[in-house]
Amino acid sequence: MSPSEIKKKAADLLAKQDFSGRYGLCFLNLTRLKIGHGTIVTTFGEFERAFPGHTLETAGLCSGATVTYAGRYIIFYDPSVEDDCAVALLHEVGHVILGHCTGKRRGPEIEEEAELFAYEFLMPECVIRYLDALKGEPLSPQEFGAYFRGTLPEHFARRLQISERTPEPADENETEILRRLFAVKG
Ligand SMILES: [Zn+2]
Repeated sequence: MSPSEIKKKAADLLAKQDFSGRYGLCFLNLTRLKIGHGTIVTTFGEFERAFPGHTLETAGLCSGATVTYAGRYIIFYDPSVEDDCAVALLHEVGHVILGHCTGKRRGPEIEEEAELFAYEFLMPECVIRYLDALKGEPLSPQEFGAYFRGTLPEHFARRLQISERTPEPADENETEILRRLFAVKG
């Protein structure tokens, strides 16, 4: 899937969520996302309560996992490190939205796609460019923390990614996202 298709899918999902005001994306409750596909977002602890004696092996501290159960996708995350895990959680959402959970495609390519989806959803390019324009110079990665979820290293990575791209006009979903955050008229 091309990066621009992934960006479109992320904006499409984001436009379906409830948020408003310029700090709206920072306050978006990631555990209450409307994802569709019968998707449930829950904690690893909840899994262990529901299935006593079973543990989900998790690699690393900040990880998420997606399992298919009874025709639903269940995304697990670790609430104790919720803020740091925003990208990990949205990475799992990316696997669901990008159709990776059918298992037909495997390997590093789908991991990269899911990761890009997470960045596009949490730190939309149109929002970064709007904030850059408001400030009159590029918003620093340190300033990203006021507007976007994720860690400082993720904010640095996203700043670099956006600086290397050629700006494109906002599409319908992006215009809607800007309208809700900044009361911008389309
Ligand atoms: Zn993954």
